[in-house]
Amino acid sequence: MIVTRFAPSPTGYLHIGGLRTALLSYLWARRNNGKFLLRIEDTDFSRNDEAAARAIVEAFKWVGLEHDGEIAYQSSRLAIYQEYVQKLLDSGKAYKCYMSREELDALREEQMARKERAKYDNRYRDFTGTPPEGREAVIRIKAPLEGSITVHDGVKGDVVFNVEDILDDFIIARADGTPTYNFVVAVDDALMGVTDVIRGDDHLSNTPKQIVVYEALGFPIPRFFHVPMIHNHEGKKLSKRDGATDVMAYKTLGYTPEALLNFLVRLGWSHGDQEIFSMKEMLELFDPSDINRSASVYSVEKLDWLNAHYITRFWYVLMDSTKRRSKKGIKKNLR
Ligand code: GLU
Repeated sequence: MIVTRFAPSPTGYLHIGGLRTALLSYLWARRNNGKFLLRIEDTDFSRNDEAAARAIVEAFKWVGLEHDGEIAYQSSRLAIYQEYVQKLLDSGKAYKCYMSREELDALREEQMARKERAKYDNRYRDFTGTPPEGREAVIRIKAPLEGSITVHDGVKGDVVFNVEDILDDFIIARADGTPTYNFVVAVDDALMGVTDVIRGDDHLSNTPKQIVVYEALGFPIPRFFHVPMIHNHEGKKLSKRDGATDVMAYKTLGYTPEALLNFLVRLGWSHGDQEIFSMKEMLELFDPSDINRSASVYSVEKLDWLNAHYITRFWYVLMDSTKRRSKKGIKKNLR
């Protein structure tokens, strides 16, 4: 079974870039009679996740996307993450590192002076001595020391990362016990049975780290589809100024959900030169392996054109049914 998920970090509203990833994940799950899960990545406790979840559900409702099952909140899964951190410690695949902030800063400075990439130097990787007194430990995972990690990406093809250029024994749990981002994403995707991860390509560089976690825990690695960013007309990443705003703002501006979804599906995916897609057609045709490799361009003119199309169609349908109804009425009166 295909299982996909949408895993936003709570920002208080759902922006259209997020809705696009959610839509693609939704289509792929529904097309395969699979599951589409919603997970709120709220391990940064200073944020208000309740409001964010409400905003997402509200936006999903407006456009008609439905997720399966309960919403998963990472903040309520801390015991699970701790269990998996412990598993890695017990199997020797992770270890305690007692390096102080000052030592870490000094190491960074030395590396920068030598014009090297700042990275942890593995000093506690095989440590068996007595830990320095009064120091809290962070937990680091043992990453491969050399070679490469290949992300088999359904959009970009095989992307090879040289271990020495991008990895070190990264932290999976902080001194206060809270787990880190790449660790929880991998653990959750594995435990929730996610088979296909469809997300923005700003996450591509996180994927090798997540693969290290999957492998250390013996979890199967999902299929990845990293979707190129949405750009503005100047070729820059879409910002609020260009319209990367709250999905619900589109409602206020008079856009129909059909137009918005149609617009979003075409940002990065195509089927011949077809522009108009109903939900039924999207569900029949969407395949993440057809996602374009290059960034897509946000065009408000295109969105307006689609919106005009759907509004006009709506009026035709309405007029048609009014006509039919009044004809029926005439017939009834004649009888
Ligand atoms: N929480 C991440 C974000 O909102 C997404 C993580 C993922 O899709 O793997 O950017």
